[in-house]
Amino acid sequence: MTRILHRSSRSAPPVAVSAQGPWITQADGRRLLDACGGAAVSCLGHGHPRVVEAIRRQVGQLDYVHSGSFSNEAAEELAEVLVGHEPGGLTGAYFVSSGSEAMEAALKLARQFFLEHGQPQRQRFIARRQSYHGNTLGALAAGGNALRREPYAPLLADAFSHVSPAYAYRNRRDGESEADYTTRLAAELEAEFQRLGPDTVAAFIAEPVVGATLGCAPAPAGYFRAVREVCDRHGALLILDEVMCGMGRTGTLHAWEQEGIAPDIQTVAKGLGGGFQPIGGLLIAGRILDAIRDGSGSFKHGHTYGAHPIACAAALEVQRVIQEEALLVQVQSMGERLRQGLEARLGQHPHVGDIRGRGLFQAVELVADRDSKACFGPALQVNLRIRDAALKAGMLCYPGTGTADGLHGDHVLLAPPYIASPAEIDLIVESLATAVEAVTASLP
Ligand code: PLP
Repeated sequence: MTRILHRSSRSAPPVAVSAQGPWITQADGRRLLDACGGAAVSCLGHGHPRVVEAIRRQVGQLDYVHSGSFSNEAAEELAEVLVGHEPGGLTGAYFVSSGSEAMEAALKLARQFFLEHGQPQRQRFIARRQSYHGNTLGALAAGGNALRREPYAPLLADAFSHVSPAYAYRNRRDGESEADYTTRLAAELEAEFQRLGPDTVAAFIAEPVVGATLGCAPAPAGYFRAVREVCDRHGALLILDEVMCGMGRTGTLHAWEQEGIAPDIQTVAKGLGGGFQPIGGLLIAGRILDAIRDGSGSFKHGHTYGAHPIACAAALEVQRVIQEEALLVQVQSMGERLRQGLEARLGQHPHVGDIRGRGLFQAVELVADRDSKACFGPALQVNLRIRDAALKAGMLCYPGTGTADGLHGDHVLLAPPYIASPAEIDLIVESLATAVEAVTASLP
């Protein structure tokens, strides 16, 4: 009997009692290989001794101060590690406790930037359909995922509109080149600016590699340069949500580094603290910081646990380990191994439509028919069946329901820790392939 309102109110999930590296142990003694880091969170795996020790040190030294009254050394050092290194790049940081809080803060910061600038009419945000930016009401309103928005629609602000996502597998037309697809998406964004009135738009919001709702979908080449240009031409900000795909997950510290642009505001969470503590943040361009410094002088926002010393100390150590142990190189090479393994084992499978992603952020999209790309539909719950089959065999993966404009798509996402060994990567491939084969063979 549980007193907790779990995700399923009919059955309580198993109780996890300990975890080490990529392995989680349940109360019944079963060990599970964590191939998705929860929801792409545990970038160093579990129980990393350096991070555990950093938390111990911090809690003994300074457990908590309110960020309205004090800064703290861990937060200052974390900001030093994260920003201010590239000329013209992001120079400020703001720490919160989750990805949703980061998105709320990003929306308010963008709004305040234009108030400071004497442009109060910039009240609109453009995001993309099928996107997910968090579950609090502002972040949910920014998101364009119909399934997640629907029950709460009456509570969501209507300052948001949505354009097509960059989802080449389903939305790039037959015979359309990658460059033409990019041009079409940028033209759609331009048309949305024109429809709203270009000087009413505060920001365009996008995830560089779309995680939970599409399954590790990167944009076509040139897409982010094109949307950056549209934003710049109309004086709007570009907000990139790197809550899931950021902090090294795709092989560079920030996923946008691979796109040849930089955002004005970036949200981060998950891999920032690697799950050792709840922490999220904003990384902020200098001109936004300047506008506030030269204007009202304060960001009109704040949470009780902002820049929490223990959370910042944990995140600081996670980031130091990634740097000192050159783990981004590891993400690139193990990411390549994971991708090649998936291609080799599942590339020709009749129900695998697409294998995509970057670094240690890879997904498999399942289809009823490869040629027509027909989806299985929601009743079959193919993604959940695969998750359950993998779980039975001892591995955790992350099931997703990318809805391709009105369709119910199934994908399974993998996000192993950056410290995963070649043998563990191979085991992940084998376990997922076995689960996909077993489930698709058993479908009615
Ligand atoms: N943004 C993206 C892209 C996410 O994937 C998520 C969570 O999955 C969030 C925001 C919200 O983060 P959190 O669950 O920490 O509030």
